[in-house]
Amino acid sequence: MTYLPGVGPKKAALLKSEIGVSTYEDMLYYFPYRYVDRSRFYKIREIESSSSYVQIKGTIVSVSCVGEHRKQRFTATFSDGTDTIELVWFKGVKFVMDKYKVGQEFVAFGKPSAFNGSYNMVHPEMETMNEAASKLMMGGLQGLYNTTEKMKSGFLTSKVIQKIMLNIFQAIGNYKLPETLPAHILQKCGLMYLHDAMVKIHFPKDDEALRNAQYRLKLEELFYIQLNILRTTRIRSQRFRGFVFSKIGYYFNTFYKEHIPFDLTDAQKRVIREIRVDAGSGKQMNRLLQGDVGSGKTLVALMTMLMALDNGYQACLMAPTEILAQQHYESVTQMLEPLGVRVELLTGSTKKSERSSILESLANGEIQILIGTHALLEDNVVFSNLGMVIIDEQHRFGVAQRARLWNKNTQRPHVLVMTATPIPRTLAMTLYGDLDVSVIDQLPPGRKPVQTFHRFDTKRVGLYDFLKKEIAGGRQAYIVYPLIQESEKSDYQNLETGYEKMKEIFPEPQYHISMVHGKMKPAEKEEQMQLFVSGQTQILVATTVIEVGVNVPNASVMVIESAERFGLSQLHQLRGRVGRGADQSYCVLLSSPKLSKESRQRLEIMVQTNDGFEISEADLKMRGPGDLEGTQQSGIPFNLKIANLATDGQILQKARDLAQEVLDEDPDLSFEKNFVMNKQLNSLARQTVNWGVIS
Ligand code: ADP
Ligand code: MG
Repeated sequence: MTYLPGVGPKKAALLKSEIGVSTYEDMLYYFPYRYVDRSRFYKIREIESSSSYVQIKGTIVSVSCVGEHRKQRFTATFSDGTDTIELVWFKGVKFVMDKYKVGQEFVAFGKPSAFNGSYNMVHPEMETMNEAASKLMMGGLQGLYNTTEKMKSGFLTSKVIQKIMLNIFQAIGNYKLPETLPAHILQKCGLMYLHDAMVKIHFPKDDEALRNAQYRLKLEELFYIQLNILRTTRIRSQRFRGFVFSKIGYYFNTFYKEHIPFDLTDAQKRVIREIRVDAGSGKQMNRLLQGDVGSGKTLVALMTMLMALDNGYQACLMAPTEILAQQHYESVTQMLEPLGVRVELLTGSTKKSERSSILESLANGEIQILIGTHALLEDNVVFSNLGMVIIDEQHRFGVAQRARLWNKNTQRPHVLVMTATPIPRTLAMTLYGDLDVSVIDQLPPGRKPVQTFHRFDTKRVGLYDFLKKEIAGGRQAYIVYPLIQESEKSDYQNLETGYEKMKEIFPEPQYHISMVHGKMKPAEKEEQMQLFVSGQTQILVATTVIEVGVNVPNASVMVIESAERFGLSQLHQLRGRVGRGADQSYCVLLSSPKLSKESRQRLEIMVQTNDGFEISEADLKMRGPGDLEGTQQSGIPFNLKIANLATDGQILQKARDLAQEVLDEDPDLSFEKNFVMNKQLNSLARQTVNWGVIS
């Protein structure tokens, strides 16, 4: 980059360290994050609080400079005859003071913000009338590029980056960027060449040119990701045959006909059918089961395990926490009691002697179902004939952990991963693109939707009366405190003081309170939890350790302290702990009255809807895919350069269909017309964790 005019060693180093750019190509793939129409001049009178970047033409009518040294601030009052606006500089004050004088005409460009009843523009871009006129002749939209603080102080502003882009195109002259899509796809989809798209994405003539360039680049980006996923899946399904579960036998039938505690919902039935077909097909099943909290995934998991048993295989169920594994163990043993199925629990706290006897019975096949935590992954956990693996709350597990379960038999067992964190379809197609998906989109009958309220934590008197009323009616309540980092001392203080305060408000002997948090010894945690589950305590004060899976149908109130500190999916999970019985349940979100716009939005969404899919869509839009739970462990490069999974659903679908068509015709990508794809896939593979191990 150093050889490019305008980029000295300093700027080159900044580009490398701040945005990872070291070649012309890297630079060209650094796209503008938005565009402004520089042919349009706003009147100052037209500016309103929602205005984003605007360009105004006017004269400096007065200037002032206040403060000293580093605290100096230079303000120029700028008028265009319709109104005035303050232009403000905090940095480089000496320089601008010399440069901008009363009476001079300029074009100012920037983002206005409301200040003391009028508007100001901080660090606007200033151009003389001549400069502005020459830009106007060039025409078109101007790209704005993201810059970091360090880049800005090294004079690598958005404007300078734009200049660099221009210099690159000048430097390469007549050379055309090599095309990365095959001609037949360009033609079929009506796409422009890569080279043209690059010119237009940085220097669009108008909206239409921009849209076409964006479409070409987005489609390409998503196409190669999908091609990669689909090809890996195809190779895997050829390489790994699956155990054939051909029978539906004694266990499944007896349970279904005689011991199921309620009627399955239609959605549960459909999903069980999908699993049955898949596990009987001779392919190794890799299936994602999505269902909102409380939709009854455990029962589906249980029946899936019974299919394995009927065909002479063992099954295992892995959960992310001890409490959850324990709970699964209890409900599964209880339900399978009459069938005489041997079920065991293996966790980190299983005693040594018990553990070795479990391992022995597992290896000789006496244990038919093993339930547990990460402890199941250990190498000394050897099955006699494992045929079905179920992973609950799979977003809590990394890729590598799932892969370890594949190796617990000579041939890969079937895998069903379950998640209660609904994932928007677009994200699922990318994150779990190689999994078949089953969805339970229906709750068991008779559930009353949880009513959710948002209150400021300065007004909690009424809340305690309400809790007392619920408890008097025989219900139980959770009170959850945020624990962003297990090590944060202040969080524990919050929890401890909260606990002490609750004990004052809800005194013994009338009330009893449990407390659980992540720092407790498992046995202690277990004991406190058990007191709540059995109804001996009416209130459970806890951190988010109770977030996943815990099932206490008698609990009807979920109070979340400092709710603004939780993410949407966490709030949804927490709320899912109530509303599991027939009673009306409530969720109370407490927050500080001082809220950022985003926190307020999150809480509003929670109040408005109970639908996990809607919430996850909102989450994706607000935070972007890289920050959603599960995407970080996925190994997929979610720093997509141009496509946006929150808004480009249609392009994604098109990309997937296209990839499917290509592979249907040419599975090995060996046709000459598809050669260029291999090269692109290889370069994608270099940026990625091994796709082959994503289950
Ligand atoms: P999740 O999908 O969140 O894991 P669970 O499997 O824990 O949900 O089920 C939530 C509750 O709903 C449990 O108490 C379970 O017994 C009950 N349940 C599951 N399926 C049905 C059904 N078809 N009819 C009635 N209740 C059901
Ligand atoms: Mg569950």
